Amino acid sequence: MHPFSYSRPTNVENAVQELAGPARAKFIAGGTNLLDLMKVNVEQPNQLIDINRLPLNTIDELDNGGLRLGALVTNADTAYHPLVEQRYPLLSQAILSAASAQLRNMATNGGNLFQRTRCYYFYDTAMPCNKRQSGHSDQSAGVGPAGCGALGGYNRIHAILGTEASDGTVHCIATHPSDMAVALTALDATIHITGPSGDRTLSIGNLHRLPGSEPQFDHTLRPDELVTAIELPPQGFSDHHIYLKLRDRSSYAFALVSVAVGLEMDGDVITDARLALGGVAHKPWRKPEAEQLLIGKTATKDHFQPVAEALLDGAVGYGHNTFKIDLAKRAILRALGLASQKSERAKEQKGE
Ligand SMILES: Cc1cc2nc3c(=O)[nH]c(=O)nc-3n(C[C@H](O)[C@H](O)[C@H](O)COP(=O)(O)OP(=O)(O)OC[C@H]3O[C@@H](n4cnc5c(N)ncnc54)[C@H](O)[C@@H]3O)c2cc1C
Ligand code: SF4
Repeated sequence: MHPFSYSRPTNVENAVQELAGPARAKFIAGGTNLLDLMKVNVEQPNQLIDINRLPLNTIDELDNGGLRLGALVTNADTAYHPLVEQRYPLLSQAILSAASAQLRNMATNGGNLFQRTRCYYFYDTAMPCNKRQSGHSDQSAGVGPAGCGALGGYNRIHAILGTEASDGTVHCIATHPSDMAVALTALDATIHITGPSGDRTLSIGNLHRLPGSEPQFDHTLRPDELVTAIELPPQGFSDHHIYLKLRDRSSYAFALVSVAVGLEMDGDVITDARLALGGVAHKPWRKPEAEQLLIGKTATKDHFQPVAEALLDGAVGYGHNTFKIDLAKRAILRALGLASQKSERAKEQKGE
C-alpha cells in the first residue's frame, strides 16, 4: 500500500482546508470502499483526512416538512430512523437492500454517494481501464494501462444507457453502484456542499455524471469540497413506493437492475410519479418526461409499458449485459405494479 499521512480534524473548515492543501488527500468516512481501493493500489492518496469527528452526524427536521441527513450518519442509523421509516420508506428500503448489516453500520451517507464502480477491471491494476488510468484526475490514481477491459471483456454487470461520448465513442461502460443514490434520485434530494469558496447545493441529479470521454470523473463535486448533508424534500411517497432490486443473490450483492418508484394516487389514478433506475448507467437514471406519461392514467400494465420503453430508449447492450435491456423493462412494469398498491405501513396507519 502507498504510504500516507493521517489527520483527524474536528471542524469542517479545517477539514476542507486540509483537502485543498498540496498533498493528494482524500477524506475517509466509514472506509468501507476507500480502504479496499487503497489495498489494491487503485486509490493512492498521500494523506487521509478522517472526517468522523466532524459535527455532521445528526438527522434534523426542517421547517418545510423535509429532513436533513448529516453526511456522517451511518447508513444503518438513517434507514432505521423513525422519521425516515415513516416518511421516506423508499429510502429505508434502498439502504437496507445494500451490502450487509456490518457494512451499513460503518458506511456513511456521504461515503455512500462517492463509492466507486464495482467494474472488475477497475479493481485489477493489471487490466486496461480508462477510469483508473486518467493520469490527471484526483478522482483516481492513474495506475495501470489505458483502454476499457470491459468493452471487449466480461461485461455482465455493466451499463446499457448513457455510455456514448458526444462524438459517439465509448470510453467506459461502468455503472454507478449505490442503491441509496437511486432512491435519493427518485426523491429529488438536494446535496449540501462546502468548500474553500463557500457553501452550495446541488440537485442529486447533477451530482453524478455520465462517462463521456472523461470516465475518470464519477461526479461533479470539486476536488476541494466536502458534502455536509443530504436534504429530503417534504414529498416522501410514503403511501405508494417500492425499491425493487434485481441481483444474482438475494442479499449482499450489487444491483443488476434496480427501480425506485414513488407514486401519488387519487383512487386508481396516478397524480404524480417518480422513477429512477440503478445498475444501468454511470449515474442513477431518471427521465422526467417518462414519468409524465403516467400522470392522469390508471395503474395498468398498458399504461406502464410506454414508460418502460421511454426509460430504456437508446439502450445498448455490449454482449454479456444485453439481457439487462429486457430485464429493466420488466422490472419497471413490476415496480410500478407494486408501488400502485398501498404500502402495508400506510394501510396500518390509516386503519385499513
Ligand atoms: C462487500 C460489499 C458489498 C456492498 N454492497 C453494496 C450494495 O449492494 N449497494 C450499495 O449501495 N453499496 C454496497 N456496498 C458499498 C458500501 O455501501 C459503501 O462502501 C459505503 O456506502 C461507503 O461509505 P463509507 O462511509 O464507508 O465511505 P468511504 O469508503 O470512507 O469513502 C468513499 C469515498 O467517499 C469520499 N467521501 C466520504 N465522505 C465524504 C463526504 N462527506 N464528502 C465528500 N466525499 C466523501 C471518500 O473520500 C471516498 O472517496 C458494498 C460494499 C462492500 C464492501
Ligand atoms: S468499464 Fe470503465 S471502469 Fe470498467 S474497465 Fe472500462 S473504463 Fe474501466
